[in-house]
Amino acid sequence: MAKQPLIPPIGKKIKLSDYDPGYAGGFKDKTEVEETLKKDLQRLDELQDILYAGGQYGLLVILQGMDTAGKDGLIRHVFKGVDPQGVEITSFKAPTPAELARDFLWRIHQRVPAKGMIGVFNRSHYEDVLVVRVHELVPKSVWKERYDHINRFEETLTEHGTIVLKFFLHISKNEQKERLEARRDDPAKQWKFNPGDLKEREYWDAYQEAYQDALSRCHTEKAPWHIVPANKKWYRNYIVTKTIIETLERLDLKYPAPPEGITQMVVPD
Ligand code: AMP
Ligand code: MG
Repeated sequence: MAKQPLIPPIGKKIKLSDYDPGYAGGFKDKTEVEETLKKDLQRLDELQDILYAGGQYGLLVILQGMDTAGKDGLIRHVFKGVDPQGVEITSFKAPTPAELARDFLWRIHQRVPAKGMIGVFNRSHYEDVLVVRVHELVPKSVWKERYDHINRFEETLTEHGTIVLKFFLHISKNEQKERLEARRDDPAKQWKFNPGDLKEREYWDAYQEAYQDALSRCHTEKAPWHIVPANKKWYRNYIVTKTIIETLERLDLKYPAPPEGITQMVVPD
């Protein structure tokens, strides 16, 4: 199997059909990465501690994907080992009247992580060029300007110490069918079964096209997209965890310097 890039080349139109959702990086099955998955969660915990202590950068993880792509499952896996005080997760739903009365980035900006924090967006401002475009919730003249707005917004964030990591969880149409059927049939998953998702599935092609444009037009050096093959949950978890670790390692994070003379200080009885 040819190696599939996680980050598409910048400046070229992205074609989703070039990316195999079932790709697993040459691994045969989950058993081959199980040990690594565990070690990586420990490493992420260490790095998160230093990120928090240093307070120099915020890390924003943006998750997008079709219904059932695995956004919730990914969050549960990747962040189960880190200090909950250092992570803020926001799930963006259809905007409230108060949110609709502002620009589309208003609710987003408020949830950007402070320095030292990891912020996770389960859906994001990208919905405003995805569901909004597919269902014509605003006219084209409005949504088509948003790609530029998003690029400028993300540039502002990256220039102010926020690391922006964007993951598109890429599943196949058939995989979605299987996951919807599993939700329908498993009593522990039925609460997640949203009959509306069946209707949304009929717009599969329109969504893929909207995703292709969003990924292509908002794919920048400082805030690039990662196309995560997500049919195999273990590979999805593996590759996203690795990417977050590598990103934090590149920052060369350090604990802040301790107070001078700390080791001579006597703790009173
Ligand atoms: P879920 O992630 O399954 O809880 O579903 C959240 C729903 O909110 C999805 O159907 C999204 O498409 C929808 N949603 C999120 N953001 C927006 C937005 N900006 N405009 C309209 N719908 C949205
Ligand atoms: Mg849903």
